Amino acid sequence: MRLFTCPCDGQLLHFENSRCEACGENLGYLPEANRLTVVRAEGDALAAEGEEGRWRFCANAQHAACNWLVPADGEEALCLCCRHNRTIPDLSIPENLSLWQRAQVAQHRLFYTILRLDLPRPTKLENPETGLAFDVLADEAMPTGQNVMTGHDSGLITLALAEADDAERERRRTAMGEPYRTLLGHYRHEVGHYYWDRLVQDGGQLEACRAVFGDEREDYGAALQRHYANGAPPDWPMHFVSAYASAHPWEDFAETWAHYLHMIDTVEMARAFGLGIAPKADAAGALAAEIDVNPYREASLDPILEAWVPLTVAVNSLNRCMGAPDAYPFVLSRPVIEKLRFIHALVQSGEAHTAG
Ligand SMILES: [Zn+2]
Ligand SMILES: [Zn+2]
Repeated sequence: MRLFTCPCDGQLLHFENSRCEACGENLGYLPEANRLTVVRAEGDALAAEGEEGRWRFCANAQHAACNWLVPADGEEALCLCCRHNRTIPDLSIPENLSLWQRAQVAQHRLFYTILRLDLPRPTKLENPETGLAFDVLADEAMPTGQNVMTGHDSGLITLALAEADDAERERRRTAMGEPYRTLLGHYRHEVGHYYWDRLVQDGGQLEACRAVFGDEREDYGAALQRHYANGAPPDWPMHFVSAYASAHPWEDFAETWAHYLHMIDTVEMARAFGLGIAPKADAAGALAAEIDVNPYREASLDPILEAWVPLTVAVNSLNRCMGAPDAYPFVLSRPVIEKLRFIHALVQSGEAHTAG
């Protein structure tokens, strides 16, 4: 994620801001230009400072769930992110509204990266077969006694609204013995399954992917049953980024994909802040890094990794000073780095941008 500045006097802005604290002007995000800018009423539409054309807010702005702009003269009422929503919770229930707003913050951050990587992103209306859609569902919409299961099926991502409830998500994290569980992590993981379909299977990368992640033709249902019955093999950290990644090659890909998105998003922000890591106690300089890498422009994963490892050690240490858990409770083994390398090459390839 990048930082933004207001046209007023360079006031620093964040991705979700809808109003500048310095000048009081309303703000809207232009996804294609990747700019957050001042918008003012002009006739029956909005003018966006520094950008041609007539604009309006995405229809989800009425729910305080989106600050993105859409062309006022187009047919789409929803922005490039929100038009992928197939089902949303019943917003007349006040609790649902606040949980759904949180889910949308994560979903917009996911789409920021999808757009920066210029990955294929048809909606299910544009292409029922290869399109991407989201159902964000509350448990009360389910038959009695059933809970919504977060998951992916042929481009349809289901997110349990309950995962937006901090207490409930933390309860599940503890019950599952996971070191990390976030809404954004869920979105990044599930969309990893979608991009396996698009970029690996449809992109002619099956053999190359199997060489790195293993053979996904292994019975998926049986693999998950085994994982939940026996847990991960004791030596999983030598081979996988998480215990769950050891369940099946599809889960390994989705977990590693999510990690890759964590990395590039965080490295971009560290660069936006001009961060450099140079611990005085590190005489050998093993943890020194000038974080000046644009992860969206690097042909190789190496400069990203060289920034990532010192950055995560520093951020984890800062979190511990605040009594907070590690922001990045993971260790990247050599095989995991090779998997990340595969995903970096996959999203950087020209194929990724013409598929779908
Ligand atoms: Zn301003
Ligand atoms: Zn929107």
